[in-house]
Amino acid sequence: MRYVYLFHEGNAGMKELLGGKGANLAEMTNLGLPVPPGLIVTTDACRDYYRDGKRLPEGLDEEVARNLRALEEETGKRFGDPHQPLLLSVRSGAVFSMPGMMDTVLNLGLNPATFRALAENTGNEWFACDTYRRFIQMFADVVMEIPKDKFEALLQERKDAQGVRLDQELSLDSLHAVIADSKALYLQETGRPFPDDVHEQLMLSIEAVFRSWNNHRAVVYRDLNKIDHHLGTAVNIQSMVFGNMGDDSGSGVAFTRNPSTGESKLYGEYLINAQGEDVVAGVRTPRPIEELAHDMPDIYRQFEGIARKLEAHYRDMQDIELTVERGKLFILQTRNGKRTAQAALKIAHDMVLEGLIDKKDALLRIDPEHLAHLLHRQIDRSAQPVILATGLAASPGAAFGSVVFDADEAEHLGRIGSKVILVRMETTPDDIHGIVQAQGILTSRGGMTSHAAVVTRGMGKPCVCGCEALHVDYENECFTVGDVVVKKGDLLSIDGTAGTVILGAVPLKDPELSDEYQAVLGWADEVRTLSVRANADTPEDAEKARGFGAEGIGLTRTEHMFMAQERLPYVQKMILARTTEERLSALLPLRIMQENDFYSILKAMRGLPVCIRLLDPPLHEFLPSLEKLLVETTELRVRGDNPQLLEEKEALLAQVAKLHEANPMMGHRGCRLGITYPEVYEMQMHAVFNAAARLTRDGYKVLPEIEIPLTISKAEMEFLKEKCDRIARECMEAHRVTFTYLCGSMIELPRAALLAGEIAEAAEFFSFGTNDLTQTCFGFSRDDAEGKFLPAYIHQKILKDNPFAVLDRAGVGRLMRIAVEEGRKVRPGLMIGICGEHGGDPGSVEFCHQIGLDLVSCSPYRIPIARLAAAQAALKYPRPAETHA
Ligand code: PEP
Ligand code: MG
Repeated sequence: MRYVYLFHEGNAGMKELLGGKGANLAEMTNLGLPVPPGLIVTTDACRDYYRDGKRLPEGLDEEVARNLRALEEETGKRFGDPHQPLLLSVRSGAVFSMPGMMDTVLNLGLNPATFRALAENTGNEWFACDTYRRFIQMFADVVMEIPKDKFEALLQERKDAQGVRLDQELSLDSLHAVIADSKALYLQETGRPFPDDVHEQLMLSIEAVFRSWNNHRAVVYRDLNKIDHHLGTAVNIQSMVFGNMGDDSGSGVAFTRNPSTGESKLYGEYLINAQGEDVVAGVRTPRPIEELAHDMPDIYRQFEGIARKLEAHYRDMQDIELTVERGKLFILQTRNGKRTAQAALKIAHDMVLEGLIDKKDALLRIDPEHLAHLLHRQIDRSAQPVILATGLAASPGAAFGSVVFDADEAEHLGRIGSKVILVRMETTPDDIHGIVQAQGILTSRGGMTSHAAVVTRGMGKPCVCGCEALHVDYENECFTVGDVVVKKGDLLSIDGTAGTVILGAVPLKDPELSDEYQAVLGWADEVRTLSVRANADTPEDAEKARGFGAEGIGLTRTEHMFMAQERLPYVQKMILARTTEERLSALLPLRIMQENDFYSILKAMRGLPVCIRLLDPPLHEFLPSLEKLLVETTELRVRGDNPQLLEEKEALLAQVAKLHEANPMMGHRGCRLGITYPEVYEMQMHAVFNAAARLTRDGYKVLPEIEIPLTISKAEMEFLKEKCDRIARECMEAHRVTFTYLCGSMIELPRAALLAGEIAEAAEFFSFGTNDLTQTCFGFSRDDAEGKFLPAYIHQKILKDNPFAVLDRAGVGRLMRIAVEEGRKVRPGLMIGICGEHGGDPGSVEFCHQIGLDLVSCSPYRIPIARLAAAQAALKYPRPAETHA
């Protein structure tokens, strides 16, 4: 097995073996770009390391040593040589980029002899000392897990003793003392002296990078981004170049286009006389890359050319790391740049217009989930918020919440549903769990490529960075801006689109969608075969859904119309009625209200199909709880002062007790209600068809679809369908109009899926209610499962995903396949859709496309996601155009 490749032996197609970074370094080397030479230890080696119980593969050290000789020849330096020492960087490089999640060791290969050579060859002892000190600290941290802080404390001690503030102000003597102190600390912590053998340094560092694959933050990141934990990382070993060798040196990071907005213009930052880590660490605030044109005009021109070349070569926006060592430019890394949803859309759109990619590439390149970020809300400027401070607009969108200063606290509060803004001087990968749970991030230091900025952009979370007016005081849990003090728990708003910070909670408003967004989703509509509808219960939602591109309503849950405060008394009266007359009299006002609801919704959808589900939940949901009534009646009985009220409450209690069910989710609900309380479904059918008839009479087009929930058999469906047809006929006759309508079945129970062929004889369409179908297929009650045992199942990897969020293809999916097949056998061309939560999940949409559904329906905000996911599915799994309308 071969474990090591030189850069020129690889290429961009070898990502799985060489990792993303390694493959790109190889590709750039072969393109003739100025890449410092190096070698790559493969991901195979990492996987074998774990397979063999965390032991480096046999022979790896010789293979590394052999390949190092090629490096030595190319650079004219030798590893460990006391005259011309070769120094190395050792970095992780996973198949999928995991920025900042794993470990790096720089300046490797220093010992007392090579240190002296470095000082002499550069004529810069200060630089050599600083490099040595950084190496010891990084090595100790990464390889031996000695906390960095302990070394930083040693540095601080020397600064204090010398009475200076900045590292650069340290004297040579102080630096030498820091090196000695650091080695002593190392000995004390590990019981062994700091290794001077450079090969030992190298092999230990390679192993440490392998180990870092499984550190806490990397595992969290992979869970979050659904990256396989078995892939392992490659290790890139590259000859060092130094950006900190004086004012003719520097380091920078640049994107070929703006990663926030997508604007086609070089975008990034750099620091003179600094190592790459300094730019991203956020300790010094870097300068915009365009100023490099002024500081180092030739370098800037050269870099611009390389950036263009790389973008054209990869046909995607690149994120490039550069270092200038004494006036010579080096490229240390290129990768497809992370970007906001807004930028992803604009870049994909612009690249199609520029002829760099085609529409298909553009559509496949955008992550559908990412589109949800675009629907982030913004500060409502009409509220005229007063700006407290301004920083960098690092990640767009606005948010408000209570201020917290600690990632653990942000995580805890976020998990229990509190909105928090995490405020830090800067964030590090160790804060990732808090960032995930916070509404937004505010930092006082760091630029557009700082950790906070990069990570939040990836998550679509608002972030304001480098807000230097902020003085963060962790100890007292507050920050100050001038004389304003903001304490932990105070409400704060941030606007990551403008970079502003505002005291209090500012009202937010819905986003406006760009032309690029409309264009790209238009392309998606051209290729998708699935129709996309919305789940909407109100005319307002219906309007919103149309705005997002819904082609109809796939589910109107009519019970929501019953829950409104002013309606509930009628609903209760209807439920508690003792005679049919009583019930009918309570139903009349409800019918009028529902008819008006349906009128508005059907009107708002202007002839597009509107699928209305008849009443579904168990009736007790509309009544006071049994426990509450028991307490109330007991109190009234004890007090004995209001016998009339007591009598009323007791009657109510008796009725509630009668309706009480051991397991209401599987009880008297769905169309069971329609069978046992026929007046309720009749009233609803009347309301729908009367509204449709009135609209038709008034000149509007309508297409109502009545949907029967939780059906189990043909007989049941037939019984209700006959009623539906009769009432439709009556309403049409009463208004002397005709309109088209459908009456179909929700497939939400395994029995319905298995007997779909029979049900299709009576049902004119199917809609999969995958929320209930998942509950009943698994035998899990959703509310209990998600709160109690599902997290453990996912954590133990017994289940890969939460089946209520991501459709379970193996089980629930199998039932769906059966239903599709059986249903269409009986009724060819049967229209079939899905309206459970899964209708807005990209992976589930793909599955629905694959099994031949006609439509998906989801909440209005997920419609753009479903449109794009449906397009991607159609591109990946084309199906004959003639199947199903
Ligand atoms: C379903 O079960 O998937 C469905 C859409 O109905 P509800 O969520 O209202 O039960
Ligand atoms: Mg349901």
